[in-house]
Formats: sequence, structure tokens, C-alpha cells
Amino acid sequence: MTATPKLAVWKFASCDGCQLTLLDVEDDFMDIAGAIQIAHFPEATRAVVEGPYDLSLVEGSITTPHDAERIREVREVSRTLVAIGACATAGGIQALRNYADVGDFLKIVYAHPEYIDTLATSTAIEDHVEVDFELRGCPISKKQLVEVIDAFIHKRKPNIPGHSVCVECKLRGTNCVMVAQGIPCMGPITQAGCGAICPAYDRGCYGCFGPAESPNIDSLASWWSDLGVGRVDLVRALRTFNAYSPEFREASEAYER
Ligand code: SF4
Ligand code: SF4
Repeated sequence: MTATPKLAVWKFASCDGCQLTLLDVEDDFMDIAGAIQIAHFPEATRAVVEGPYDLSLVEGSITTPHDAERIREVREVSRTLVAIGACATAGGIQALRNYADVGDFLKIVYAHPEYIDTLATSTAIEDHVEVDFELRGCPISKKQLVEVIDAFIHKRKPNIPGHSVCVECKLRGTNCVMVAQGIPCMGPITQAGCGAICPAYDRGCYGCFGPAESPNIDSLASWWSDLGVGRVDLVRALRTFNAYSPEFREASEAYER
């Protein structure tokens, strides 16, 4: 009989929303708990089973020297490491610091900035250690998380699409808010996974799932320009939840020039 695989959940700079998704999978949680041993998950239990771990889910970005050291230790005790959420896969909202001087923020926010030991940047897990799979979203989708864990248990590749949110609009029969209402929408360049929630409520997607596979950002910029959106607002839209994903970062820097 093979041993039950051990799951560990780790937190770095983040809001906890993605790891809470695991507790929020409702009925599926009992199936997961039956198939996998929850060995390290401080958000859920104080009980800790020693590693190594078969599957580590890592939430959050690397923002301090201690984080940079700790993620290497996590990698060493993890057979498979999956980065979950916009923070872990693209540096998160906190990556906005990468476009400014972090020293200026420290002076404004803290009475004694000299006590703060931080890095100048917020970066993705993959920038520090090898990552076996990245699951995007802010927060991640419950359905996609269950799919990734199920794929791990059954030793298969996760079935996570790389196509855009536009495909999900078509699948749920939502009229395109950009075409029908002239609302700027990031859907054409954003990865699917949320089920196109925002357009279904008559608002544009603001890109929380990060770049879709091969996003045509120049085409989106041209659409937005026709809708009267200026470059400053386009750059701002690219620099929200996934500001430091390579695709959004490169485009935002090009449009800022
Ligand atoms: S509403 Fe947005 S995501 Fe949906 S089809 Fe239109 S552009 Fe694409
Ligand atoms: S439509 Fe866009 S912004 Fe809204 S939840 Fe989906 S990916 Fe996020």
C-alpha cells in the first residue's frame, strides 16, 4: 500500500485569500482530506507533521531577505511545489513597489523605518526557486485548485486552460461589454478561470487572473484607444494585481515611454 501524500500550505507576503480558498472548497474538501494528509497548514490547524512534503502550495510573494531564505527551505522539503495566486505567480499588488523607491514608502508608513528589513521588490516564487506549476488568480478559483490537487493525486497534468476570459464570456452567453457597451475590458489578454464574473455584471475585467497565453496587448491598447482610454490609464490597468508578470510588465513599461 502506498503512503497517503502529504500536503503543506505556506504563506509569504499575501492576504491569505488564496489559502482560504482551500478551506472554502466545501464538499470537495472532505474528498481532498480523504485522499491527502494535511501535514502543514497553519491557517487551518496547529498540528504539524514533519516534512518532506509531497505537495506544497505556496501563497504570497517574496518581499524580505527572510522570505528569500525561507522559500529555499520550503523548496528543499517539497517534492512538488505549486505557486498559487497573483502574489506567488506575479508579485501581487505589492509589486507596485517595484516601480517606485521602497525607501519613500517606508518613510511615509513607519515611524521608525530603520527597524524594517525589506527588499526593494516584491517578486514571484519562480524568481527564487524552481516552481512545478503556477495557478493564477486573485484569489485563485476553487474549481481550478481542486483540479490541480486532483491532477497531483492522480499523477497527471492539470487541465487549466491558457485561453482568455473572452472565451468564458462566450461559454456563459454574456454579451461583450466592450463591443456592446464601450466599457474597457482586460478580458482579451487575461487568463480564464473565474468564469467571466465581471462582464456578467456589466463591468470590464480588470485582469486579476493575469496574462492569458500569448496575450495581444497591442491589439487591446488599440481597442482601448478607440474607446478614449489614455495611455496613463492603460498602464495603470496593466499594473494592478499582476503588475510584475513578465507580459504585463513589459507592456506597461513600453506604454509608459
Ligand atoms: S466582455 Fe470582456 S472578456 Fe467578455 S468578450 Fe468582451 S472583451 Fe472579452
Ligand atoms: S472577469 Fe477579470 S477581474 Fe473579474 S474576476 Fe474574472 S479575471 Fe478577475
